[in-house]
Amino acid sequence: MQVWLFRIACAPLPRYSFLMSTLPNDGPDLLGPDDPPQFEVINREGGAHMLLVCDHASNAVPKQLDYLGLPDDAFEKHIAYDIGAAAVTRGLAQRLDAQAVLAGYSRLVIDPNRPPGHPDSIMPENDGIQIPANQDLSPMARRQRVRQVFEPYHDAVNRALARLWDRGPAPAILSIHSFSPTFGGKPRPWDIGVLWNRDPRIAVPLMEHLDRFELTVGDNEPYSGHDLAYTIDMHGAAAGIANCAIEINQDQIRDKSGVLRWVDILSESILPIFDIPGLHRVERF
Ligand SMILES: [Zn+2]
Repeated sequence: MQVWLFRIACAPLPRYSFLMSTLPNDGPDLLGPDDPPQFEVINREGGAHMLLVCDHASNAVPKQLDYLGLPDDAFEKHIAYDIGAAAVTRGLAQRLDAQAVLAGYSRLVIDPNRPPGHPDSIMPENDGIQIPANQDLSPMARRQRVRQVFEPYHDAVNRALARLWDRGPAPAILSIHSFSPTFGGKPRPWDIGVLWNRDPRIAVPLMEHLDRFELTVGDNEPYSGHDLAYTIDMHGAAAGIANCAIEINQDQIRDKSGVLRWVDILSESILPIFDIPGLHRVERF
C-alpha cells in the first residue's frame, strides 16, 4: 500500500493537466522578421472623430505558411483581399484627416471580420477554391492565427478608438471593403453598397449624399448589414457608437484614377455627416 501511494505521489504530472489546459498557449511564432506587421495605423493624430478600418486590406501571408499551398496568382484575386480597398482607405484618411487601421494579412490566413472559431474564420474554401493549408487545422494552428494575427489587429482598432474617446465624445467607425463584380457566375450591378444593421446615423445620410453622383447604390447589397460583420458589430454596434460599412465595386478601384474618383465621391459624401446631431452619442438602436 505504501509503495503504491509513493508511486502516485512521485508520478510526473500528465503533460496536459487540468491547470495547463486552461492556460493560453499561442503556439510557436508564426511571424518571422521578414513578415509584415499585423496592422498598420495611419494618421494617428488625425483630427476627425471617425475611425476608418480596412479588414481586408492585404493579401500577405506569413512566410512560414508558404502561400497556404495556393499558386501565387490566387493572391491577386478577390478571395485573398479586397482589391483597391486599402488605397481608398489611405486616400480617405488623408482627405478626412481621419485615423485608419488596416489589417496586415490576407483574410485567407484568418478573417478579421469573423469571430474566431466561426466556420468562416479560417476558410477551408472560398468562392470554389480549396485552401490547402486551411484543411483540418489543429487547435494549436488555429490558436496561432487567432493570437498572433487576429487579436493584434483588433487590439489596434481598440487602441485607435480609445485615442478618440480620450479626445472627446463617442467616436464613429466606418469599415471599408470592396466586392467582386460577379460572384458564383452572377453579375452584381451596384457601384457601391452601404451595409448597416439598426444604426441609421451614418448609412442613411450617406446613401442620400451618394445619390447625388448618379450611382447605383445598394442598400444592404451585395451583402446585408444584418448578417455577421464582426468588426463593426463588436467595435461599433456593441459599444453603441455610430457605425457603417461600405462595399465598393472592385472594378472601379483597380487603378489610381478609380481610387481618386472614389476618394472624391466618398469624402464629399462623408464630410457633411460629421455635423449630424447625435452622431457622437452612445445610442442603442
Ligand atoms: Zn471585405
